[in-house]
Amino acid sequence: MQSLLETNITYLKGVGPKKAAVLKKELGVIVFDDLLNYFPFRYVDKSRIYNVSDIVSGNTYFQLIGKITNLEKVGDKRTRYIIATLTDETGSIDMVWFRGVQWVLNRFIPGKRYVVFGKPSVFKNKFNFVHPEIEDYDEETFKITGQRLEGIYSSTEKLKNIGLGARGISKLVNELLSQCNNRFSETLPNYIISKYNLLGKQQALVNIHFPSDSNIIKRASDRLKFEELLLVQLQILGQRNSLNRKIVGQVFKLVGESFNEFFNNQLPFSLTGAQKRVIKEIRADMRGGFQMNRLLQGDVGSGKTLVALMCMLLALDNGFQSCIMAPTEILATQHYNSIKKMLSAMDIKMELLTGSTKKKKRTEIHNSLVDGSLNLLIGTHAVIEDTVQFNNLGFVVIDEQHRFGVAQRARLWRKNKIPPHVLVMTATPIPRTLAMTVYGNLDISVIDELPPGRKPVTTSHLFEKSRLRVLGFMKDQIKQGRQIYIVYPLIRESEKVDLKNLMDGYANMLHDFPMPTYQVSVLHGRMKPEDKDFEMQRFVEGKTDIMVSTTVIEVGVDVPNASVMIIENSERFGLSQLHQLRGRVGRGADQSYCILMSGYKLSSEGRKRLEIMVETTDGFKIAEADLKLRGPGDLQGTQQSGVLDLKIASLVNDTEIITATRTMAEEILLTDPTLSLTKNALLRKQLEQIKKGKQNWGRIS
Ligand code: ADP
Ligand code: MG
Repeated sequence: MQSLLETNITYLKGVGPKKAAVLKKELGVIVFDDLLNYFPFRYVDKSRIYNVSDIVSGNTYFQLIGKITNLEKVGDKRTRYIIATLTDETGSIDMVWFRGVQWVLNRFIPGKRYVVFGKPSVFKNKFNFVHPEIEDYDEETFKITGQRLEGIYSSTEKLKNIGLGARGISKLVNELLSQCNNRFSETLPNYIISKYNLLGKQQALVNIHFPSDSNIIKRASDRLKFEELLLVQLQILGQRNSLNRKIVGQVFKLVGESFNEFFNNQLPFSLTGAQKRVIKEIRADMRGGFQMNRLLQGDVGSGKTLVALMCMLLALDNGFQSCIMAPTEILATQHYNSIKKMLSAMDIKMELLTGSTKKKKRTEIHNSLVDGSLNLLIGTHAVIEDTVQFNNLGFVVIDEQHRFGVAQRARLWRKNKIPPHVLVMTATPIPRTLAMTVYGNLDISVIDELPPGRKPVTTSHLFEKSRLRVLGFMKDQIKQGRQIYIVYPLIRESEKVDLKNLMDGYANMLHDFPMPTYQVSVLHGRMKPEDKDFEMQRFVEGKTDIMVSTTVIEVGVDVPNASVMIIENSERFGLSQLHQLRGRVGRGADQSYCILMSGYKLSSEGRKRLEIMVETTDGFKIAEADLKLRGPGDLQGTQQSGVLDLKIASLVNDTEIITATRTMAEEILLTDPTLSLTKNALLRKQLEQIKKGKQNWGRIS
């Protein structure tokens, strides 16, 4: 059986070398098994035969059988088309072809019977078919292959040119199944099939291509999805297990004085449940004997910094130094100041190291790191330079992960003989399905709860006609002592126009909010770093009322007094960006506002994004919606994962099956990590084949 499925597709009846080459190029179909696993993406119902008189609406498809009673060329040279009339016992309907005129003339013969399938349109108050599907009618074959649910396979221009449109592919699959006598061996262990009440492999494969009725389609696809996702989970979890056991880590046995002092006497509030849980998860890693590599995700304002700080105290209690790395100088400074404040009553040595740290200070820091007197270093990527050496680095925090590459992270690893534990913090929520798949080999901790008392940001979507109202509202907020962000899009392709819009907006603000009553700042990526920092610092210190900027403020800045976020041309931003921007306000105790300005013309996707923003402030809901709108291909980090080569399952829609297979895979690996039990032999065989396939260069075109 296996060898039959490994047969080159050239040898399938109706293929041959020329078609085989196109199948390989266009669909990656090389052997029988590839075609067998090329599934329809939808089905049309051809189980019923209608009469011409049944056609009373143009909304659905109809299948008719009748004679061609008239076939004629109409129009002149430039507008030539064909009209043919199909007649059955109940009436007649016209069929029209505008393309392939000569071919149609030659192909169809008046007086003969045909099967026609199509969606009627209305022309001059009458129904007709434009370019319907049409085939010769032969009673015997029609009984076998015609009256059914038909799977529609996606095809390409090149395939269509060689007769392999959706129907052509369907015919090949039909041929393939009959060459295999519709027999396929089972590939999942029995105990799994019965546990989840799955269809057998053979039944699933036959029915996914040629369903016997409409109910079985879902069962067939569920079974195939289950198998596909279970194998993905076994790979991911297997990989993760072996990864985790590979790298020896520092062991933090103690919870000591610093941690306890901070927790009991310094903490100005109580930890949220989620913060406590996450700290426990990290602690378990830190004393487990293996190097921790954990992703900490939590919405903006969920209190990630505090978690990082407390873990750093654990490191300190165990005699280790820590380091926090932030993507910008402003953020690093902010971390430094807020942590310094929280630790002010404790005797902990900490320093800030950035690109603008003076030489003398720098040397001082280098020395105290090496002699071990410095406990905590906070900085920008200045901290990964080779001149920065530690006495005993045990714990590294990387804030806002996507700004740092893997290579940069690896440099931090090497700063101790036994690599430090690494915690990567991100405010971009990862949808649940992706956390289990694309990111499934990372350890992830989630802070899914905000500190109590936060008021959700009030969000509205407004158009240009409300501009005056918005200006009035801004004046009102400034009068109350609050600050305002106005953000403009800036993307590379339209940079000139965007920059002009931003500067126009800035000019308008200067006009509407004149000095000296008001202070307005401007900030964009083209400015010199010193100027940027200067403007940002003025805003942070409350010296300016309005900050007009591009998305350079997107990440991390904390100005609790800012209460209004106005986003111009908001329809041009992605959902996660909008969410990040909105997260810049609502950080204090007062009510904050986000105003999404947009043009009147919106694409349906753009409108949907703004609707979602108005509807919810929950980062996870927004991430799920984003995934649904964009699909997983666009998300960063997903390209290289390989999980996206899924043939039938969907990372967007199959949450339930993903969860079920995750649980199943965990269960299996817990009792049988190497899949050596007899009952798991089929799984092991499949995984081995997958591995082999990856190395099989013959199959890579
Ligand atoms: P983020 O996760 O966005 O980095 P931060 O760590 O900056 O969030 O925390 C946001 C604010 O919430 C800070 O001012 C911090 O002091 C405060 N905070 C953190 N944890 C709690 C808590 N458990 N209760 C109340 N406030 C908290
Ligand atoms: Mg933060």
